[in-house]
Amino acid sequence: MIAANAHGLLHVWEAQRCAHPVVRALHVLAAARPERGWSDWLHAPIGERDAALLNLHESLFGAELHTTAACPCCGDRLESEFEVADVRSESAAQPPAPRGVWLQLQLQGYAVDYRLPNSDDLLQVTAQRGDAQDAALRLMRRCVSRARLGGDEIDAAALPEAVAASLSAEMARQDPDAELRITLVCPACGASAQTHFDIVTYFWSEFDDWAQRVLADVHVLARAYGWSEDAVLALSPARRQIYLDMVGA
Ligand SMILES: [Zn+2]
Repeated sequence: MIAANAHGLLHVWEAQRCAHPVVRALHVLAAARPERGWSDWLHAPIGERDAALLNLHESLFGAELHTTAACPCCGDRLESEFEVADVRSESAAQPPAPRGVWLQLQLQGYAVDYRLPNSDDLLQVTAQRGDAQDAALRLMRRCVSRARLGGDEIDAAALPEAVAASLSAEMARQDPDAELRITLVCPACGASAQTHFDIVTYFWSEFDDWAQRVLADVHVLARAYGWSEDAVLALSPARRQIYLDMVGA
């Protein structure tokens, strides 16, 4: 897949290097999955976006992932290797409600029409000033289209804490890959700790390494054989490696 689309992916890497992490992840997805455009990925539920990034990582770089965290008990540095399947939710086979589908929560006499948060929501919410509580409220207002108590319309901000908490829990249940987590076990003290796995940042780091390696390969083969960048990128990874071996790189 990399060989087939290396040119397009390298273009995204070059053009988006300084962009917001979420923005550049969406551009990678749009380049790798052109049947869905940028706007489609911008409005896809977070878990659907992150599951697609996990799948793309698997097809481009393999299923293996690694992470590091500090042990909450002894402070030791925990390093762990795991696989895409370890962080992907069991219900990934059932995609979350797609873009534009409204869901409803009924609780304690309240009826709330809502949709799942997407990348556009997070970008808009985090671009404004305020603390985490303000951000959570803004996110809820964006995702709730209508809230009612009995027959009366109310502002989403007026929902009681318990209903708002249930709404968040229901969103998480509907879009389980929106919060990827991995359990690490400390070899020093035996404690286990759950940590958030940020596939958006992780994917770009691997993608950046890949782009640097590809450009280094182009440099070596262009110098040895006089081939153009396009000619080197058109080689399959296996053939490229054979030529690299022959020139002793
Ligand atoms: Zn420990």
